[in-house]
Amino acid sequence: MSDVAARATAGFRQRYGGEPAGRWAAPGRVNLIGEHTDYNDGFVLPFALPLRTVVAAAATDDGRWSVWSELDDEPVEFGPAEADEPGGVDGWAAYVAGVVWALRAAGHTVPGARLAIASDVPVGSGLSSSAAIEAAVLAALVELGGLDLPADRWPRLAQRAENDYVGAPTGIMDQSAVIRGRSGHALFLDCRTEAVEQIPFDLEAAGLAVLVVDSRAPHRHADGEYAARRKSCERAAETLGVAALRDVATGDLDAALARLDDAETRRRVRHVVTEDQRVLDTVELLRAGRIRDIGPLLTASHASMRDDFEITVPEIDTAVEAALAAGAYGARMTGGGFGGCVLALVDADAADAVAAAVTAAYADRGFAAPGTLTVLPAGGATRLD
Ligand code: ADP
Ligand code: MG
Repeated sequence: MSDVAARATAGFRQRYGGEPAGRWAAPGRVNLIGEHTDYNDGFVLPFALPLRTVVAAAATDDGRWSVWSELDDEPVEFGPAEADEPGGVDGWAAYVAGVVWALRAAGHTVPGARLAIASDVPVGSGLSSSAAIEAAVLAALVELGGLDLPADRWPRLAQRAENDYVGAPTGIMDQSAVIRGRSGHALFLDCRTEAVEQIPFDLEAAGLAVLVVDSRAPHRHADGEYAARRKSCERAAETLGVAALRDVATGDLDAALARLDDAETRRRVRHVVTEDQRVLDTVELLRAGRIRDIGPLLTASHASMRDDFEITVPEIDTAVEAALAAGAYGARMTGGGFGGCVLALVDADAADAVAAAVTAAYADRGFAAPGTLTVLPAGGATRLD
């Protein structure tokens, strides 16, 4: 049993006594490319991480839920009344109650349950520990209740839990990636149609890896800046007479920019339109098995986020520059910006050296040390045993 599954199991035994009926896991995710394209009806290309959240669980017959996480001391308990009212459970357990709520709102009979949660996914770093906990709990409850709910409907349900119960406005990317992710693949997601396609991304076979650097930069004004970017994109689409910026074709970009009289808006639009194209180009290269060749697209994505969308911070830019100088094929910030993580495509046997170079560059600049981890694309939510 993996260490994280053992921790969930030990937590279950200690809090509730007895044995769990099973263990269910869901991973974190990282977005390979396609940033701020989701709410513009565009394209993203995330993959699931080998780091997972595990839920050890058993059904009860009292129609109530008790959930413990190793992040907290005491279990949180709630019944149907709290689950049926967004806000009825708050704090971290809202992510669990939200899943119960979304299932019940969709007409399912959710069994009472005891759940114990352990996780290797860093919380609040942009690797989607939130979707991981949602998907692991969902997998557990669906099976414990024998619910008729095919996995292709899980992402929408988990997203509803986060949007409408927790109250965090996120798109469908995180939940899709952690539920549908497949080992050795990235998930190409069209955010307008929600069509998904598995794209070969077998880093291991190519002797490659992705280094993820947690910048540990404090999230400065992230919410307000996110809202401002979104608004700017929506206004630009309106001016251009399109439903969303996804509808501006790459070949029409210059003409579209000429119709916008504000330089800042032009930069925002240029980022979104070129970023959509970079996702499509990345998908083409990966389909052709040319993994190393996506490096320049990753780096161009970063430059676009830094110069046109203006969402990077000094720690993030430092990590990207240091990774490239140490031999990465490409590197970029991943996630919404103003902190979060950087990813770099590296030779597997160079990953440690690139990580050390980033850490040294941080020390030179006087930044608090970053977190680093080397990952390969892994599978999505699943029962463990
Ligand atoms: P991210 O998804 O990038 O990690 P979010 O802010 O979206 O960051 O979600 C983090 C929140 O999800 C935590 O603050 C906590 O409420 C909840 N959460 C995630 N993982 C766990 C866990 N293992 N145990 C309890 N709560 C968790
Ligand atoms: Mg999240």
